[in-house]
Amino acid sequence: MHDGHNRQINYLRVSVTDRCNFRCAYCMPEQGVPMLSHDDILSYEEMFRVIRVFSQHGISKIRLTGGEPLVRRGITGFIRSIADLNTITDISLTTNGSLLAGMAGELKAAGLKRVNISLDTIDPERFRCITGGGDVATVIKGIQTALAVGLMPVKLNVVLTNIISKYDVAYFVDLIHREPVSIRFIEYMPIGDARVGPGPSIAEIKKMINSSGRGTLKPTLDIRGNGPAKYFCLPQAKGSFGFITPISEHFCGACNRIRLTADGKIKPCLLSNQEVDIKDALRSGAGDDEIVKLFYAIITNKPEGHTLSNSGNPTNFFRKMSQIGG
Ligand code: SAM
Repeated sequence: MHDGHNRQINYLRVSVTDRCNFRCAYCMPEQGVPMLSHDDILSYEEMFRVIRVFSQHGISKIRLTGGEPLVRRGITGFIRSIADLNTITDISLTTNGSLLAGMAGELKAAGLKRVNISLDTIDPERFRCITGGGDVATVIKGIQTALAVGLMPVKLNVVLTNIISKYDVAYFVDLIHREPVSIRFIEYMPIGDARVGPGPSIAEIKKMINSSGRGTLKPTLDIRGNGPAKYFCLPQAKGSFGFITPISEHFCGACNRIRLTADGKIKPCLLSNQEVDIKDALRSGAGDDEIVKLFYAIITNKPEGHTLSNSGNPTNFFRKMSQIGG
C-alpha cells in the first residue's frame, strides 16, 4: 500500500493506553493529562480488529506503545493474538522499562520480538526528576532481563534534554562494549509543555563519544530498523549508537507509518493534528469494508512532511506525546 507521495505504508503504531506510571518532563504535563474513561478507550478486541483488517492491506509491522503499554492489563494476551495473525511479521514494544523485568519472559513467549526502552539518564536523582518519580534501577533490571530472555534487538531511547550529562554518555559508551544494545539519541520535539531545557545537539553527543578514548564512530548500514535512525559503530563494541533527527534533518520522505491512538483515532503523522475517528465505525456495526475505507482515507491524505522546528509552537498540537504514542 502506497500513500499519495508514493511511500510504502507497512507499519502501524498502536497506543494501547494513555495512562503512564511516569510523568516524563518532555512528554506529559506534571499533573498528567485528563484520564480517558474505560469506555473512551478501545478494547483489545477493537484494536485487534483494526490490526487484522489493516494487515490485509499492507500493514505487516506493529509497535505497541502508550502511555505506558505495560500498565494495561492483558497486554500479553493481546500480543499473543497479534502474533497468531500470519499477516503480521514483526511485533515490537516501546516501554519505560519500569515493569519489564517482571514481564519480559512472558512477553517474549507471547510473540514479542523486540523492545525499545526509554532511558534518558542513568543518574538516579536526575532520573527521578525527569520521570516524576521513576527508579532507574528497575529500568536497568528491565534492560538486563530483556537481553536475558532474548528480545532482539534491545534499543534504548535517549531524548536529548539538559538532563543528560557527559557521565551518561560515558556510561552508554561502556554499555555498548558490554552488551549488544543500540542506544539511540533522539532530538527533543517541542510539542508538550516541557519542564526541561534543550540538551546537547547530535553533533555534540558525537564529539563526546569520539573523545571517550574508545575509537571513532563509523556509520554502518548493517543495522536497520523500521525507522529513521542512522546507526554508527565503535571498533570493539558489541552494540551501536543511533541518531534520530526529527528536527534538524527530518526523514518524512521515508516515513512508512501510521498510528492508532488509545481513544480510537487513526493518525497519519505524529506531528499533525489530522486524524480520523475509527471508534464510531467499530462500535456502530461497520463491516470490514468500511474500516478499509477509513484506512485508505488516512493513507491517501498522509501529509508529505511535518513543519516542526526547534522554535515550534507546542500549542499548535492538541495532543501531548503520551496521548499519541511516540
Ligand atoms: N511509556 C513508553 C516509553 O516511555 O517509552 C512509551 C510511550 S513514549 C511517548 C514513547 C517515546 O517517545 C519514548 O521513547 C519517549 O522518550 C519519546 N518522547 C516522548 N516525548 C518526546 C518528545 N517531546 N521529543 C522526543 N521524544 C519524545
